[in-house]
Amino acid sequence: MPTIAIIGSGPAGFYAAEAAAKQWADDVQIDIYDRLPTPYGLIRAGVAPDHQSIKAVSRRYEATALLKSVRFIGGVGIGSDLPVEALTAAYDAVILATGAPHDRPLDVPGEELEGVIGSAAFVGWYNGHPDHARLDPPLDAAGVCIIGNGNVAIDCTRILAKTRAELHASDIATHALEQLERSAVQEIHVVGRRGPHQVSFTPKELGEMGELERASAHVAPGDLPPEAEDAKLEPGLRKSVTHLRSFARTGSPKPVRVLFDFFSRPVACIGNGRVEGLLVERTYLDEAGQARGTGETRVIPCGLVIACIGYRTDPVPGVPYDMKLGRFVNEDGRIGPGLWCVGWARRGPSGTIGTNRPDGFAVVERVAAELDRSGGKPGFEAVADQLKRASVVITDFSAWQRIDAAEVARARAGAPREKFVHLSDMRAAIGG
Ligand code: NAP
Repeated sequence: MPTIAIIGSGPAGFYAAEAAAKQWADDVQIDIYDRLPTPYGLIRAGVAPDHQSIKAVSRRYEATALLKSVRFIGGVGIGSDLPVEALTAAYDAVILATGAPHDRPLDVPGEELEGVIGSAAFVGWYNGHPDHARLDPPLDAAGVCIIGNGNVAIDCTRILAKTRAELHASDIATHALEQLERSAVQEIHVVGRRGPHQVSFTPKELGEMGELERASAHVAPGDLPPEAEDAKLEPGLRKSVTHLRSFARTGSPKPVRVLFDFFSRPVACIGNGRVEGLLVERTYLDEAGQARGTGETRVIPCGLVIACIGYRTDPVPGVPYDMKLGRFVNEDGRIGPGLWCVGWARRGPSGTIGTNRPDGFAVVERVAAELDRSGGKPGFEAVADQLKRASVVITDFSAWQRIDAAEVARARAGAPREKFVHLSDMRAAIGG
């Protein structure tokens, strides 16, 4: 029976597991490793807490986790607790599904100032990820700059703009809910280096900006291209641009204003120890559609800068890594003999959650074509001793189910759950 290790229990990992269980008709052992005792990766800690319908896909992953051929092994960091070579020696195939948890650097002077953070940290903070729960983002100044024109920028903007009542039925971590309630933020600048025709927002997410209780969205009419040019856009982008046009007509502003600052390239973060402003340069688009500076600069006053400019995969010692693309070097998912990657670790941070399903199925088909049908390597038993010697405490899916039940039980009234944000609390919920 083939043995397969999948590293990472987010969407890419679970779709690969589902594909492998189908491929070998359950006559296979699939071990899904995660560094945390909690599964589902981006669904739990990346998808916005007020988008519960997207999070419902975890039910499908749960069904996969409960298959008899699938085992969840939490608490094991590959590369830290266990070298990847130990896994490739132990399993017939190892599939890296580690996502892209780190921010791409902004690469501008002043990036190191207090109050300049990346979206991975900010999103992790409001979603209660143990790595970011203590972030404490400064929300005491009126201005915030959100850099980027993608859906992550919209998520961060919406969470900053919503009222407590609007976030009430979400699973936002209570520490974030309370800090946001005390927020002094009144102007959220969504800074895009290109224009309305180049945004990566999806229309549904952008449309929500026009429906907020205490926040109004604004676009400078002069930044919009002539309306006739919208006809050449693909339908989704055309819808987004229609929303942006409606924001240019917005009547009276609400207490919080979301200002789409197009054609603005970040040049530097300015401040003395702590950020006080973002220096931007006005841009125009060259023939290739890329942003070029005009030399005209201005400072947007702000006490917080959140860079939402894309993510990168965490390198794993011993695995070839493309520094420029921020992901593993691979050919259609194949890294080397017995070593594969799927999802964002394979193709970079693009697409929706669902994009990872065909991706996982296609890579598993290639794994099957290369792997001897019967397999032969022992799997987990070959690494168990090594983990024990390193004092790694592993947790299984039933431990997660106990954490899950405890989180649901301690939820605020009306909320789906209150996440444990510290590993020690998760261990206590598991029972030691
Ligand atoms: P994204 O869609 O690739 O957007 C990144 C943005 O950052 C772009 O506007 C890009 O501008 C800008 N950018 C990159 N480098 C920059 C720089 N140095 N200076 C200024 N701006 C820079 O990435 P994302 O928002 O991180 O989203 C990642 C993926 O997750 C996407 O596929 C997204 O749709 C998905 N997602 C989906 C949802 C949802 O469906 N609800 C929610 C969150 C994320 P240019 O275009 O000029 O390069």
